[in-house]
Amino acid sequence: MILAILVAASTLLTGACRDSQPTSPTASAQTQTVRRPDPSPIEFDPKPDTPPALKISGERAYRNLKDFVALGPRPLGSDGHNKAEQFILSHLDGAQIEQDKFTTQTAAGPFAMNNIVARFPGKKDGVIVLAGHYDTNLPLKNTSFVGANDGGSNVGLMLEIASQLRTHPPEGYSIWLLFTDGEEAAIEWTAADSVYGSKHLAKKWSQDGTAAKIKAFLLLDMIGDKDLDVVRDNNSSPWLLDVVYRAAQRTGKQSHFFAYTNEISDDHLPFRDVGIPVADIIDLDYGFNNIYHHTTQDTPDKCSAASLQIVGDVVMETIRALNTR
Ligand SMILES: [Zn+2]
Repeated sequence: MILAILVAASTLLTGACRDSQPTSPTASAQTQTVRRPDPSPIEFDPKPDTPPALKISGERAYRNLKDFVALGPRPLGSDGHNKAEQFILSHLDGAQIEQDKFTTQTAAGPFAMNNIVARFPGKKDGVIVLAGHYDTNLPLKNTSFVGANDGGSNVGLMLEIASQLRTHPPEGYSIWLLFTDGEEAAIEWTAADSVYGSKHLAKKWSQDGTAAKIKAFLLLDMIGDKDLDVVRDNNSSPWLLDVVYRAAQRTGKQSHFFAYTNEISDDHLPFRDVGIPVADIIDLDYGFNNIYHHTTQDTPDKCSAASLQIVGDVVMETIRALNTR
C-alpha cells in the first residue's frame, strides 16, 4: 500500500473546475462505466428477524497474523511468496478455491502473480467479497520487512473468517475471500505501478459477468494497528461506507471509524472502475504520523488482537446488514 492524496488538494481542484462547461450527458454516458443506483444505507438496518452476525475471534486472527509473518518477507518472486501462497491455501479447507495465476510486466520486470479466491456459497443470489493483499513491498525485499500490519493483518483476519465460515456457511449472500497479489508498487507507487493483481482480476470479472453479481467489495488493509483509527476514504462508495459506519455504531465501535477523511489509492479502485460498490477499510495512521508504514518496524508487536476483533466485528455486522435488504 498505498497512496493518499490530501483532501484539501481535491477541494481546490473542484473549485478550479467551477466555471467549466458541463459535459453533455450523451458524451459522458458513452465513456463511463454504467453506475448502479446508490441505495440508501438505512435500507440495510437489520430487522428483528435478521440472523445474527458471524462471531469471529480477534485472538485467533492475531495468532494467524504472527504465524503468517513468521514465514518471513514475501515479495514477488521470492521463496517467502511461495510459502505465503501455500500457507493461505492450507488454511482454506472447505472453500471452493480459484487461483488466478498470471505473469505480468511490472515497473521492475515480469513477475508471476496469484490471486487466491476462497468461495463460500450462500443461499441468496449475489456475492460479498472480502479482500486484502498478501505480498510484501518489493523495494524492501533485501530488508527484514515482514508487513505484519501491511498484508499480515488482513490475512490473519481473513483466515479466521474462513475458519468460521467452514462450520457456519453463509445464510445470505455468498462470501468470497480474495487474497490479492501484486498490490505493492514494484518501484514507486503510481496508478501504473501498483495493484497489479486487482487490475488483472477486475478485468476478468468484468468480462465474464462476475462483477455484476457482486453486491459489495470490502477491502481490508492495515487493520491491525494497536491504535486503530480507520479513515473515511473518498474513493470508496459513500453509501457503502455509511453501511459500515452504521454497523460500527450498532457494535459500539464507532470511535475507531472515520474520525478523518482521505482519498486512498488501493486494491479497491480497479473493482470500483468496473462498477462494483467498494469500501476500503484502512487505517493509514500506523504509529505516530504513520511512522511504521513500509519500515522494518512493521512487526506483530505494533498490532493487536483487540484491533482485529473490532474490524472483524464491524465487517461481520456490515455483512449482516447487507443481507437485510
Ligand atoms: Zn504496503
